[in-house]
Amino acid sequence: MEKLISLAKRRGFIYQGSEIYGGLAGTWDYGPLGVLLKESVKKLWLKLFRDEREDVYGLDASIIMNPKVWEASGHVAGFADPMENGEQFNVMFKTSVGAGEEATTSYLRPETAQGIFVNFKNVVDSFHPKLPFGIAQVGKAFRNEISPRDFIFRQREFEQMEVEYFVKESEWEKSFEMWRQTMHDFAKRVGIGEVHELDVEDKDRAHYSKKTIDFEFEYPFGRKELWGLAYRTDYDLRQHSASSGQALEYFDEESGERLTPHVIEPSLGVDRTILAILNSAYTEDKLGGEERVYLKLPKDIAPIRAAVFPLLKNKPELVEKAREIYKMLKSEFGNIEFDDNGNIGKRYRRQDEVGTPYCVTVDFDTLGETKELEGTVTVRDRDTGEQKRVKIEDLKERLS
Ligand code: ATP
Repeated sequence: MEKLISLAKRRGFIYQGSEIYGGLAGTWDYGPLGVLLKESVKKLWLKLFRDEREDVYGLDASIIMNPKVWEASGHVAGFADPMENGEQFNVMFKTSVGAGEEATTSYLRPETAQGIFVNFKNVVDSFHPKLPFGIAQVGKAFRNEISPRDFIFRQREFEQMEVEYFVKESEWEKSFEMWRQTMHDFAKRVGIGEVHELDVEDKDRAHYSKKTIDFEFEYPFGRKELWGLAYRTDYDLRQHSASSGQALEYFDEESGERLTPHVIEPSLGVDRTILAILNSAYTEDKLGGEERVYLKLPKDIAPIRAAVFPLLKNKPELVEKAREIYKMLKSEFGNIEFDDNGNIGKRYRRQDEVGTPYCVTVDFDTLGETKELEGTVTVRDRDTGEQKRVKIEDLKERLS
């Protein structure tokens, strides 16, 4: 963990929040490479949980909501953890909305789910979806955790990726199983090594949930919750119907009846996902007799897809050709880096450490010193260290 935190800071993945002021407990800032990693994790999640499907809609709800939302959801009364003295402490962050006498107390959302429930009727009215269907949201959530710890594992400000999937009561098990599978697929795609399922016992489940599975990961500080999958019954929609006076129902054309859908919720923390990815990817090995550290990240989420090098910095013809290739690849992939600093070995090691899958080197053969090799470059593989010559016109495909 120490090694990972230090690599994350040194190489611009994750910094302590407000660091120059001594930090602020439970807050972390994503640096340039962390941002790229985080964006691709969210993009892949959206692809699997929303875009590849026909039955999931997107949403981006407000972080500050009417406080009645949190009364109806049960958070005002019960979203609390015990302090050292045994007293219950509600972990919702309070905030004040409006000026002077007009000011009212509200909360920063402690989960993205409620933004989805309060928009259930809006989405139904605009799109008339058939059951089952889902609404997906990615966004920040805030919890005034009593003891934030373990790097980005337990933060006071973090990000969630959630789907509320609305089903007929009789069909909940089928949908639960389907999302369980999708969560495993997602773990595989982002390169999370092993995920363990824990069937949460009755006494540990939220009172409204009839089944919950915790997906756990073996972090360096122990096996802990990574994500959750819960069958939330019709609790939330019923609570908001009763509280708001608006019928949050669904009209089933087949049977001609009005019903309150039941809900399956896959809930994934972005930051815990990133921590599990980094832990799974962190590798120390020996290559060509030398110790090295590298991140074995899947190429679709690696912050830098490829780095382009001129063999030598002081040969303008090499630099010019390398920059030309760099620009071509950058316009295709975006996340391409140019590096001409230090010897090639050092450049490889720098890229290994941030998980760059490919390094492309322009040498004198590229320019035609060896006639048969003119117009080719070397592509070096991060995991094996192997180098192969590839034609410049085949590079895009090779790196895809
Ligand atoms: P824990 O028991 O570890 O506090 P939880 O059961 O309260 O977690 P949920 O309410 O199920 O967590 O939230 C869904 C997901 O949001 C979690 O699986 C996790 O990935 C993420 N998450 C929850 N709290 C935090 C936090 N303080 N920091 C980072 N991620 C969090």
